[in-house]
Amino acid sequence: MQGIYREIQKEYDDNRKRALDEAQAKKDAVYKEHPELKEVDDEINKIGVSMSKAIIFIDNDAVRNAKIEELKKNINELKDKKAKILKKLKLTEEYFEPVFTCNVCQDTGTVGSLEGAKLCNCFRQKIINHTYNKTQMYIIDKENFDTFDEKVFSDKVDEKRYKSEKSPRENILNIKKRSEEFVEKFSDEDNKNLIFIGGTGLGKTFMSNCIAKAAIDSGKTVLYQTAGKLMDMVMDYRMNRDNGEIDATEYNELFEVDLLIIDDLGTENVTEARLSELFNIINTRLINGKKKGIRTLISTNKELKDLMSYYDQRIVSRILGNFDVYRFFGEDIRLKTSGK
Ligand SMILES: [Zn+2]
Repeated sequence: MQGIYREIQKEYDDNRKRALDEAQAKKDAVYKEHPELKEVDDEINKIGVSMSKAIIFIDNDAVRNAKIEELKKNINELKDKKAKILKKLKLTEEYFEPVFTCNVCQDTGTVGSLEGAKLCNCFRQKIINHTYNKTQMYIIDKENFDTFDEKVFSDKVDEKRYKSEKSPRENILNIKKRSEEFVEKFSDEDNKNLIFIGGTGLGKTFMSNCIAKAAIDSGKTVLYQTAGKLMDMVMDYRMNRDNGEIDATEYNELFEVDLLIIDDLGTENVTEARLSELFNIINTRLINGKKKGIRTLISTNKELKDLMSYYDQRIVSRILGNFDVYRFFGEDIRLKTSGK
């Protein structure tokens, strides 16, 4: 675990250095062609230093304020001069800014003051990807709202077969709309959690991936895992706290991460103890969700009543009260999207 932190921090240090070096190189190139720009920048920097000195070393209020006023006037004149030069060169100040991978932490990996510093979401996401998401994060580059194709869902209504007055296409478009809203209104108090129900190959995982990508793009942290693997990891953590697959910080992300996606909740390998661990996570997130604005998405190929038979009905129904349930139906889309 320490190793992965170091590894990621090294990547950040490299990215940040590269961004700063590139910005400096751009600046140097323009300076070389247009020394008048460098002169103005040097002047501005010099006055900046004089300003700090005045603030620190001049004791007399009146003298100090007069000096500061004078320096401010000089700086403003120089800034005007610089603006004119930039305009002539058809450049803006932004042109010289470093281009960071993450604008929030500027590729440092942390945000906040020294005492209150915490990991930036982008850094947390990398740890989560390493521990939990693994391959899923590569899939969301391919499976997202931009690549969503409703045409693979039939537009024929088949009430008898699907027990719905909607066609599979109408149904999936409705789910897609709600899924987009789910991300847009992510932490709104009235934004419920989601459950996707339906057989294999009806688009549940695809839609979960769409949501994962959109949430990450909007700066949220996302943890994706299948229910079976999640229960394995949690049981493993419980039994070998100190030398298991995940450590306490990573375990806590199950409760802290903005969006927890539990895929493929079935009844295979389910025991009451395992399910109890899973419901404990879901339930704690529901309680914290109000305060922290975190959300959970569950997809399952089982009818809810089947899950209920495995667990205390009161608890299951109370949990379900905090979820919007969407049913997926239609034909197996994997047959229509060859290669996906
Ligand atoms: Zn960041």
